[in-house]
Amino acid sequence: MLSFEKSAALHEEAARSVAGGVNSNVRYGESPPLFFERAEGPRLYDVDGNVLIDYVLGNGPAILGHAAPAVIGPVAASLGTGQSIAGQHGGEIALARRLKEIIPSADLVRFSVSGSEAVHAALRVARGYTGRSRFIKFEGQYHGWLDNVLISTKPGLNEAGPRDAPTPVLMSRGQPERVKEEVVVLPWNDEEALKGALRALESEIAAVLTEPVMCNCGVIPPKPGYLAAMRRLASEAGALLIFDEVITGFRLGLGGAQARFGIAPDLSVFAKAVANGFPLSVLAGKRAVMALIEPKGQVVHSGTYNSNMTSVAAALATLNALGADPAAYARMEARGERLMEGLRHAAKRHGETLLVQGYGAVFCTLFTDAREVVDFRSAATADVTRMTAFAAALARNGVRTTPRGVWFLSMAHGDAEIDATLAAADRAMAEL
Ligand code: PMP
Repeated sequence: MLSFEKSAALHEEAARSVAGGVNSNVRYGESPPLFFERAEGPRLYDVDGNVLIDYVLGNGPAILGHAAPAVIGPVAASLGTGQSIAGQHGGEIALARRLKEIIPSADLVRFSVSGSEAVHAALRVARGYTGRSRFIKFEGQYHGWLDNVLISTKPGLNEAGPRDAPTPVLMSRGQPERVKEEVVVLPWNDEEALKGALRALESEIAAVLTEPVMCNCGVIPPKPGYLAAMRRLASEAGALLIFDEVITGFRLGLGGAQARFGIAPDLSVFAKAVANGFPLSVLAGKRAVMALIEPKGQVVHSGTYNSNMTSVAAALATLNALGADPAAYARMEARGERLMEGLRHAAKRHGETLLVQGYGAVFCTLFTDAREVVDFRSAATADVTRMTAFAAALARNGVRTTPRGVWFLSMAHGDAEIDATLAAADRAMAEL
């Protein structure tokens, strides 16, 4: 049984100089927030001398495993050429070309640093293109921490209003009240709700912003035909369809969810797995829309660190490695599916009602009697406290996953890691 005394002590020490002792509020979920010395392949090495099999993967980026040789080699070789130069370099062209080959809807791209920023850019371009200001987002979906999208990501049911017409709920103190006026919150996976809202507000909606799979809430797949309906309804209303592929990108397949489901959005946003942990995000889209960022289009997108040499080298190396072995995605998915199935069996043995849903590459464990969850309200039936306890028990048994129940696979997770994880899950469930 692992213990985390040094992490707990370091967390206390950190809190004297870092607000809350962590640098992203998401990290409060783990107790104690763990301190690591290094990460390699599918493993983390913490300050207490523990080795953990990692299914957090930095909340998604490390698709090739931590410190992947295929990435850090080229990055190390690039370091001597400089980092941020506020000028152009050949790597940007190479990366843009590669992304155009991989992403079906990418005619033009722009690079930023974080997913939040790229979502921000997508909304600005959509507003510039349509001349409209409001947008549709879906209850339970997270698109970053900026003011205009940190709305109804995890609202309390007491303030969230009716399921069919949710009340927009701000998720942070300090957000201006007026951002609620710009957003229409809808239940996801509900074609009729989208149709009704777009009909009622047709001339006001600039964009429908959605994760193509609801990864941050239950890892909920789209119902058959739902993404196609979104595509059709957005076009009919003159609104742009924006796919937030920050998690699904390069994870549900090299071409992301849009290639997997065969739906082309007008704009899409990528981050995380694109550079295996180095900070780089991508706004990609159709030529006519992305042209708004060209000088005569007058939409501003900027950033000191955009297309810095280090992140571009990392992204190129990551995409080269991901593209080099076409069967690697199928192997990763198969291992993930074996893990999902094993977790279902373990739960049954221990009399737990555990729902395991999603894809081999990213899935969710939820303690709920429901046979499936399809939107935020049905996911909200899950017992969050029990999931947090399960994650803590898993950590004591050498496996790290997110306290909210989302598991990320990497191509560095082999059969031995899956077997060890299932044995640990068995012990963890016995401890519950
Ligand atoms: N969109 C989605 C779907 C995400 O999961 C995240 C991050 N978890 C973001 C946007 C924001 O990305 P970042 O944390 O890089 O700003």
